[in-house]
Amino acid sequence: MTDLKRAFDLAGRVAVVTGGNGGIGLGMARGMAAAGAAIVVAGRNRDKSRRAVAELEGLGAKAVAIEVDVTDEASVVALVAQTVERLGRLDVLVNNAGINIRKPAHELDLREWRQVIDTNLTSAFMASHAAHPVMKKQGGGKIINIGSMMSIFGAAFAPAYAASKGGIVQLTRSMATAWAPHHIQVNAVLPGWIDTELTTNARREVPGLHERVLSRIPEGRWGAGDDMAGVAVFLASRASDYVTGTAIPVDGGYSIMS
Ligand code: NDP
Repeated sequence: MTDLKRAFDLAGRVAVVTGGNGGIGLGMARGMAAAGAAIVVAGRNRDKSRRAVAELEGLGAKAVAIEVDVTDEASVVALVAQTVERLGRLDVLVNNAGINIRKPAHELDLREWRQVIDTNLTSAFMASHAAHPVMKKQGGGKIINIGSMMSIFGAAFAPAYAASKGGIVQLTRSMATAWAPHHIQVNAVLPGWIDTELTTNARREVPGLHERVLSRIPEGRWGAGDDMAGVAVFLASRASDYVTGTAIPVDGGYSIMS
Protein backbone atom coordinates (compact mmCIF):
# COMPACT_ATOMS: atom_id res chain seq x y z
CA MET A 1 0.00 0.00 0.00
CA THR A 2 1.79 3.13 -1.16
CA ASP A 3 -0.92 5.79 -0.82
CA LEU A 4 -0.58 6.28 2.94
CA LYS A 5 -2.82 9.32 3.04
CA ARG A 6 -5.66 7.27 1.56
CA ALA A 7 -4.84 4.34 3.88
CA PHE A 8 -5.60 6.42 6.98
CA ASP A 9 -8.39 8.54 5.47
CA LEU A 10 -11.78 7.94 7.12
CA ALA A 11 -13.80 10.24 4.86
CA GLY A 12 -17.19 8.69 4.10
CA ARG A 13 -16.97 6.29 7.06
CA VAL A 14 -19.45 6.25 9.93
CA ALA A 15 -18.14 5.36 13.40
CA VAL A 16 -20.27 4.59 16.46
CA VAL A 17 -18.49 5.09 19.78
CA THR A 18 -20.28 3.82 22.88
CA GLY A 19 -19.35 6.04 25.79
CA GLY A 20 -18.12 8.50 23.16
CA ASN A 21 -19.16 11.48 25.25
CA GLY A 22 -16.08 11.56 27.51
CA GLY A 23 -12.68 10.15 28.44
CA ILE A 24 -11.19 7.49 26.18
CA GLY A 25 -14.25 7.27 23.90
CA LEU A 26 -14.15 11.00 23.15
CA GLY A 27 -10.38 10.85 22.61
CA MET A 28 -10.91 8.13 20.00
CA ALA A 29 -13.84 10.01 18.48
CA ARG A 30 -11.71 13.16 18.13
CA GLY A 31 -9.04 11.22 16.25
CA MET A 32 -11.49 9.55 13.87
CA ALA A 33 -13.36 12.85 13.32
CA ALA A 34 -10.10 14.60 12.45
CA ALA A 35 -9.41 11.79 9.94
CA GLY A 36 -12.78 12.50 8.26
CA ALA A 37 -15.25 10.06 9.82
CA ALA A 38 -18.81 10.93 10.83
CA ILE A 39 -19.26 10.08 14.51
CA VAL A 40 -22.21 8.74 16.49
CA VAL A 41 -21.73 9.62 20.14
CA ALA A 42 -23.61 6.88 21.99
CA GLY A 43 -24.08 7.41 25.72
CA ARG A 44 -26.67 7.98 28.43
CA ASN A 45 -25.87 11.45 29.68
CA ARG A 46 -27.51 13.90 27.25
CA ASP A 47 -25.58 16.98 28.37
CA LYS A 48 -22.22 15.25 28.01
CA SER A 49 -23.23 13.89 24.60
CA ARG A 50 -24.40 17.32 23.43
CA ARG A 51 -21.07 18.86 24.45
CA ALA A 52 -19.12 16.08 22.72
CA VAL A 53 -21.10 16.51 19.48
CA ALA A 54 -20.44 20.28 19.53
CA GLU A 55 -16.73 19.63 20.04
CA LEU A 56 -16.55 17.12 17.17
CA GLU A 57 -18.48 19.46 14.89
CA GLY A 58 -15.89 22.09 15.79
CA LEU A 59 -13.29 19.77 14.20
CA GLY A 60 -15.30 19.94 10.98
CA ALA A 61 -16.87 16.50 11.40
CA LYS A 62 -20.46 15.39 11.12
CA ALA A 63 -21.52 14.18 14.56
CA VAL A 64 -24.79 13.09 16.13
CA ALA A 65 -25.76 11.88 19.58
CA ILE A 66 -27.88 8.76 19.96
CA GLU A 67 -28.92 7.83 23.48
CA VAL A 68 -28.19 4.24 24.46
CA ASP A 69 -28.03 2.01 27.49
CA VAL A 70 -25.49 -0.61 26.44
CA THR A 71 -26.87 -3.10 28.97
CA ASP A 72 -30.26 -3.12 27.26
CA GLU A 73 -30.55 -5.26 24.11
CA ALA A 74 -33.43 -3.30 22.56
CA SER A 75 -31.55 -0.04 23.11
CA VAL A 76 -28.39 -1.43 21.47
CA VAL A 77 -30.34 -2.81 18.49
CA ALA A 78 -32.04 0.59 18.13
CA LEU A 79 -28.63 2.33 18.19
CA VAL A 80 -27.48 0.35 15.15
CA ALA A 81 -30.80 0.82 13.33
CA GLN A 82 -30.88 4.57 14.01
CA THR A 83 -27.26 4.95 12.89
CA VAL A 84 -28.04 3.39 9.53
CA GLU A 85 -31.30 5.35 9.26
CA ARG A 86 -29.68 8.72 10.02
CA LEU A 87 -26.20 8.34 8.52
CA GLY A 88 -26.77 5.68 5.86
CA ARG A 89 -24.13 3.16 6.99
CA LEU A 90 -22.03 1.80 9.85
CA ASP A 91 -18.34 1.16 9.22
CA VAL A 92 -16.70 1.30 12.65
CA LEU A 93 -18.03 0.21 16.03
CA VAL A 94 -16.04 1.13 19.14
CA ASN A 95 -17.25 -0.83 22.16
CA ASN A 96 -15.91 1.53 24.80
CA ALA A 97 -18.64 2.09 27.42
CA GLY A 98 -17.52 0.71 30.74
CA ILE A 99 -17.73 0.93 34.52
CA ASN A 100 -15.96 -0.47 37.57
CA ILE A 101 -17.21 -1.29 41.04
CA ARG A 102 -14.16 -1.36 43.25
CA LYS A 103 -14.45 -4.10 45.86
CA PRO A 104 -12.61 -7.37 46.54
CA ALA A 105 -14.45 -10.52 45.42
CA HIS A 106 -15.62 -11.35 48.95
CA GLU A 107 -17.44 -8.01 49.19
CA LEU A 108 -18.90 -7.83 45.67
CA ASP A 109 -22.49 -9.08 45.41
CA LEU A 110 -24.05 -10.83 42.44
CA ARG A 111 -26.01 -7.77 41.32
CA GLU A 112 -22.80 -5.71 41.21
CA TRP A 113 -20.95 -8.51 39.38
CA ARG A 114 -23.70 -8.65 36.74
CA GLN A 115 -23.79 -4.87 36.36
CA VAL A 116 -20.07 -4.73 35.54
CA ILE A 117 -20.11 -7.79 33.24
CA ASP A 118 -23.25 -6.54 31.44
CA THR A 119 -21.84 -3.04 30.91
CA ASN A 120 -18.29 -3.98 29.92
CA LEU A 121 -18.59 -7.36 28.17
CA THR A 122 -22.13 -8.41 27.25
CA SER A 123 -22.64 -4.96 25.74
CA ALA A 124 -19.75 -5.54 23.30
CA PHE A 125 -21.26 -8.86 22.25
CA MET A 126 -24.73 -7.32 21.78
CA ALA A 127 -23.52 -4.30 19.81
CA SER A 128 -21.19 -6.35 17.61
CA HIS A 129 -23.95 -8.90 17.02
CA ALA A 130 -26.29 -6.10 15.94
CA ALA A 131 -23.65 -4.44 13.73
CA HIS A 132 -22.46 -7.63 12.02
CA PRO A 133 -25.26 -8.00 9.42
CA VAL A 134 -24.90 -4.32 8.43
CA MET A 135 -21.12 -4.58 8.03
CA LYS A 136 -21.35 -7.90 6.21
CA LYS A 137 -23.83 -6.44 3.73
CA GLN A 138 -21.55 -3.42 3.19
CA GLY A 139 -18.63 -5.75 2.40
CA GLY A 140 -16.63 -5.17 5.60
CA GLY A 141 -16.19 -3.19 8.78
CA LYS A 142 -14.09 -2.52 11.86
CA ILE A 143 -14.85 -3.38 15.47
CA ILE A 144 -12.64 -1.96 18.21
CA ASN A 145 -13.18 -3.36 21.70
CA ILE A 146 -11.75 -1.61 24.72
CA GLY A 147 -9.92 -3.86 27.16
CA SER A 148 -7.61 -2.71 29.93
CA MET A 149 -4.39 -3.48 31.74
CA MET A 150 -6.74 -5.78 33.65
CA SER A 151 -7.11 -7.84 30.48
CA ILE A 152 -3.57 -8.90 31.49
CA PHE A 153 -3.15 -8.28 35.24
CA GLY A 154 -5.31 -8.84 38.28
CA ALA A 155 -6.18 -6.27 40.94
CA ALA A 156 -7.64 -6.97 44.36
CA PHE A 157 -10.29 -4.30 43.93
CA ALA A 158 -11.52 -5.31 40.45
CA PRO A 159 -12.72 -8.92 40.18
CA ALA A 160 -15.68 -8.34 37.84
CA TYR A 161 -13.87 -5.61 35.92
CA ALA A 162 -10.83 -7.84 35.30
CA ALA A 163 -13.08 -10.76 34.30
CA SER A 164 -14.95 -8.51 31.84
CA LYS A 165 -11.73 -7.13 30.34
CA GLY A 166 -10.13 -10.58 30.05
CA GLY A 167 -13.35 -11.67 28.36
CA ILE A 168 -13.15 -8.76 25.92
CA VAL A 169 -9.85 -10.09 24.55
CA GLN A 170 -11.23 -13.60 24.00
CA LEU A 171 -14.48 -12.26 22.52
CA THR A 172 -12.33 -10.17 20.16
CA ARG A 173 -10.39 -13.23 19.00
CA SER A 174 -13.55 -15.30 18.51
CA MET A 175 -15.36 -12.65 16.47
CA ALA A 176 -12.18 -11.88 14.52
CA THR A 177 -11.83 -15.47 13.35
CA ALA A 178 -15.54 -15.86 12.57
CA TRP A 179 -15.90 -12.59 10.69
CA ALA A 180 -12.61 -12.35 8.78
CA PRO A 181 -14.27 -14.00 5.77
CA HIS A 182 -16.75 -11.08 5.83
CA HIS A 183 -13.81 -8.60 5.88
CA ILE A 184 -14.75 -7.38 9.34
CA GLN A 185 -11.60 -6.83 11.42
CA VAL A 186 -12.08 -7.09 15.16
CA ASN A 187 -9.33 -5.80 17.46
CA ALA A 188 -8.96 -4.82 21.09
CA VAL A 189 -7.14 -1.82 22.54
CA LEU A 190 -5.78 -2.16 26.06
CA PRO A 191 -5.42 1.36 27.49
CA GLY A 192 -2.99 1.86 30.31
CA TRP A 193 -3.80 4.32 33.09
CA ILE A 194 -5.65 7.20 31.50
CA ASP A 195 -6.81 10.35 33.27
CA THR A 196 -10.65 10.20 32.97
CA GLU A 197 -13.73 10.31 35.21
CA LEU A 198 -13.32 6.57 35.80
CA THR A 199 -9.78 6.86 37.14
CA THR A 200 -10.49 10.07 39.04
CA ASN A 201 -12.94 7.97 41.06
CA ALA A 202 -10.43 5.10 41.31
CA ARG A 203 -7.77 7.43 42.69
CA ARG A 204 -10.25 8.71 45.23
CA GLU A 205 -11.23 5.20 46.33
CA VAL A 206 -7.87 3.39 46.25
CA PRO A 207 -5.24 5.07 48.46
CA GLY A 208 -1.80 5.43 46.87
CA LEU A 209 -3.01 4.36 43.42
CA HIS A 210 -1.87 7.50 41.60
CA GLU A 211 1.76 7.29 42.75
CA ARG A 212 1.95 3.47 42.48
CA VAL A 213 0.81 3.61 38.86
CA LEU A 214 3.02 6.58 37.96
CA SER A 215 6.12 4.91 39.36
CA ARG A 216 5.86 2.05 36.85
CA ILE A 217 4.99 3.94 33.66
CA PRO A 218 8.20 4.21 31.60
CA GLU A 219 6.81 7.27 29.78
CA GLY A 220 6.61 8.94 33.20
CA ARG A 221 3.04 10.22 33.00
CA TRP A 222 -0.59 9.10 33.13
CA GLY A 223 -2.23 8.95 29.69
CA ALA A 224 -4.85 11.32 28.29
CA GLY A 225 -7.93 10.55 26.18
CA ASP A 226 -6.14 11.97 23.16
CA ASP A 227 -3.41 9.33 23.49
CA MET A 228 -6.04 6.90 22.17
CA ALA A 229 -6.71 8.87 18.96
CA GLY A 230 -3.94 7.38 16.81
CA VAL A 231 -4.70 3.74 17.52
CA ALA A 232 -8.40 4.39 16.85
CA VAL A 233 -7.66 5.93 13.44
CA PHE A 234 -5.34 3.04 12.57
CA LEU A 235 -7.81 0.32 13.58
CA ALA A 236 -10.72 2.14 11.87
CA SER A 237 -8.88 2.63 8.58
CA ARG A 238 -7.77 0.66 5.52
CA ALA A 239 -4.27 0.73 7.03
CA SER A 240 -5.34 -2.10 9.36
CA ASP A 241 -7.17 -4.27 6.82
CA TYR A 242 -4.76 -7.18 7.48
CA VAL A 243 -4.77 -6.70 11.28
CA THR A 244 -7.35 -8.69 13.19
CA GLY A 245 -7.78 -10.41 16.56
CA THR A 246 -5.04 -8.36 18.24
CA ALA A 247 -5.00 -6.74 21.67
CA ILE A 248 -2.82 -3.63 21.47
CA PRO A 249 -1.61 -2.04 24.72
CA VAL A 250 -1.54 1.79 24.62
CA ASP A 251 -0.01 2.29 28.01
CA GLY A 252 3.24 4.28 27.96
CA GLY A 253 5.04 0.97 28.58
CA TYR A 254 3.18 0.00 31.78
CA SER A 255 2.59 -3.59 30.69
CA ILE A 256 6.25 -4.29 29.82
CA MET A 257 7.66 -3.11 33.17
CA SER A 258 8.75 -5.87 35.55
P1 NDP B 1 -15.45 7.37 31.65
O1 NDP B 1 -16.12 7.09 32.94
O2 NDP B 1 -15.00 8.74 31.33
O3 NDP B 1 -16.34 6.86 30.44
C1 NDP B 1 -17.20 5.77 30.53
C2 NDP B 1 -18.23 5.93 29.44
O4 NDP B 1 -19.10 4.80 29.43
C3 NDP B 1 -19.08 7.15 29.65
O5 NDP B 1 -19.05 7.89 28.45
C4 NDP B 1 -20.47 6.61 29.94
O6 NDP B 1 -21.47 7.40 29.32
C5 NDP B 1 -20.41 5.26 29.27
N1 NDP B 1 -21.33 4.28 29.87
C6 NDP B 1 -21.22 3.66 31.06
N2 NDP B 1 -22.27 2.85 31.26
C7 NDP B 1 -23.07 2.96 30.16
C8 NDP B 1 -24.29 2.38 29.77
N3 NDP B 1 -24.94 1.50 30.54
N4 NDP B 1 -24.82 2.72 28.57
C9 NDP B 1 -24.18 3.62 27.78
N5 NDP B 1 -23.01 4.21 28.09
C10 NDP B 1 -22.46 3.87 29.27
O7 NDP B 1 -14.23 6.35 31.64
P2 NDP B 1 -13.07 6.01 30.61
O8 NDP B 1 -13.08 6.90 29.46
O9 NDP B 1 -11.87 5.88 31.43
O10 NDP B 1 -13.51 4.54 30.18
C11 NDP B 1 -13.84 4.17 28.87
C12 NDP B 1 -13.46 2.70 28.65
O11 NDP B 1 -12.06 2.57 28.78
C13 NDP B 1 -14.08 1.76 29.67
O12 NDP B 1 -14.43 0.55 29.01
C14 NDP B 1 -12.96 1.51 30.64
O13 NDP B 1 -13.06 0.28 31.28
C15 NDP B 1 -11.78 1.53 29.69
N6 NDP B 1 -10.49 1.75 30.31
C16 NDP B 1 -10.20 2.90 30.99
C17 NDP B 1 -8.93 3.09 31.52
C18 NDP B 1 -8.53 4.33 32.21
O14 NDP B 1 -7.42 4.36 32.76
N7 NDP B 1 -9.32 5.36 32.23
C19 NDP B 1 -7.91 2.04 31.40
C20 NDP B 1 -8.32 0.89 30.68
C21 NDP B 1 -9.56 0.76 30.16
P3 NDP B 1 -22.56 8.21 30.22
O15 NDP B 1 -21.77 9.13 31.08
O16 NDP B 1 -23.39 8.90 29.18
O17 NDP B 1 -23.30 7.16 30.97
